[in-house]
Amino acid sequence: MERTFLAIKPDGVQRGLVGTIIQRFEQKGYTLVGLKLMRVSRELAEQHYGEHKDKPFFPGLVNFITSGPVVAMVWEGRGVIANARKLIGATNPLNAEPGTLRGDFAVDVGRNVIHGSDSPENAEREINLWFQTQELVPWEPALTSWVYEM
Ligand code: GDP
Ligand code: MG
Repeated sequence: MERTFLAIKPDGVQRGLVGTIIQRFEQKGYTLVGLKLMRVSRELAEQHYGEHKDKPFFPGLVNFITSGPVVAMVWEGRGVIANARKLIGATNPLNAEPGTLRGDFAVDVGRNVIHGSDSPENAEREINLWFQTQELVPWEPALTSWVYEM
């Protein structure tokens, strides 16, 4: 089973969207295997967003992601990496379709509520960056056979 890393950003936490966002992935049928509320250090922020370090928005992005608590999560399920990105919607919420989290709950690209890994390589990198192995809890949901044909 595939795993991805998702994080509810400080704007999502401040706006009271934690429950709504978690519910979306639960209702889809994905399985939560890691969850913590935390403050992000500058070091973690800079590593997480390392691919953007030369972009003009990088300093603002690091300031924003370290500005308040975030909810870090690992979700598991078939196709979860690509499908979580679809449920999240386009990076710029102005381009995000209605029905996506960013389409429904965000307006500005610098306040787009949630992060999701964009590839299997980044999912593995981000899970290892944000979580220790013993913080992840593998479990078999009782509803598995009602979500998966096999
Ligand atoms: P994501 O994978 O959809 O989150 O998008 P990216 O990896 O391209 O960018 C990471 C994050 O940087 C985005 O979620 C935005 O919060 C922020 N970001 C990206 N592009 C811009 C931009 O042009 N301006 C600003 N202010 N922030 C941006
Ligand atoms: Mg990205």
